[in-house]
Amino acid sequence: LSGPEPRDGRRICVCVRKRPLNRQEATREDLDIVTIPSDNVVMVHESKQKVDLTRYLENQTFCFDRAFNDTASNELVYQFTAQPLVESIFRHGMATCFAYGQTGSGKTHTMGGGFSARDQECSKGIYAMVAQDVFLLLKTSAYEKLDLKVYGTFFEIYGGKVYDLLNWKKKLQVLEDGNQQIQVVGLQEQEVWCVEDMLNLVELGNSCRTSGQTSVNAHSSRSHAVFQVILKSRGKLHGKFSLVDLAGNERGADTAKANRKRQLEGAEINKSLLALKECIRALGQNKSHTPFRASKLTQVLRDSFIGQNSSTCMIATISPGMASCENTLNTLRYANRVKEI
Ligand code: ADP
Ligand code: MG
Repeated sequence: LSGPEPRDGRRICVCVRKRPLNRQEATREDLDIVTIPSDNVVMVHESKQKVDLTRYLENQTFCFDRAFNDTASNELVYQFTAQPLVESIFRHGMATCFAYGQTGSGKTHTMGGGFSARDQECSKGIYAMVAQDVFLLLKTSAYEKLDLKVYGTFFEIYGGKVYDLLNWKKKLQVLEDGNQQIQVVGLQEQEVWCVEDMLNLVELGNSCRTSGQTSVNAHSSRSHAVFQVILKSRGKLHGKFSLVDLAGNERGADTAKANRKRQLEGAEINKSLLALKECIRALGQNKSHTPFRASKLTQVLRDSFIGQNSSTCMIATISPGMASCENTLNTLRYANRVKEI
């Protein structure tokens, strides 16, 4: 596999991806207030008002491992984020890739959860590219002899509950045994034999995820979707790649006047995203204590945050428009905190 080398032993990679202004924003004459002056810098030009009401731009600059402009392809994003982690799962690694950002900023577009698997090439997301590389590596001489089997799981976490996307959204229990091992009881682990099989799983999960929704972003934007590629050797876990399309991180305006259900949803999402930040930071600082119990999301991903063989990448997706400024800055601040210090 080509692509950049795993980041010299570092276990966390944080990248930002800006999406293009969409037609709706362009029609509203929303301004593009985000620039990417180099491949690891993001600038936000926030419009502010002085006391005499004249307007001025306040520039805020953030640095990341990589910053992708609105012209970057899913392929390029993949090369610098998830791809360098794929091989680690053949060496007993636990790899994780998160898409984090406000609703409509491009998380699902990046991961590939929004399309049917057989759509044209250009819509291929990270799920599909990981699947391809896993089956490529499986057939290389180095790993062929390990006699590994490949499985997929796909589930959703909504309101602190786990639902199986490969089994009609069946509600599942999460149990922790005496050795702190976490088990999602009854989660479908489906064996797959080729890329095509894996894409069929993704497609099934996607259709299950969005079924019964009145609007495209209704329920799926309020839940975390976790797609996992699992390698097993003689029935025992060998390595695992978890690809997580997180719930929208937006707060504010709509929640103030929102109904009780929305407020509870928002509180739950907030709690899990805070817990996630702390767990990734603990991983980056090699802390012995990881606060994974603070949310269902971090609990089911416990394996990803502990052990010497875990590595994580985060893709923070941002909308370019002035109307999204507040959310964009929140996303960038969060991503900044997740970075290793
Ligand atoms: P989210 O999952 O974060 O709510 P989506 O991935 O559904 O956001 O993206 C919202 C819309 O913007 C979709 O129509 C998607 O196709 C489009 N979009 C997102 N990112 C990009 C991009 N990098 N290039 C082109 N279109 C994009
Ligand atoms: Mg989405």
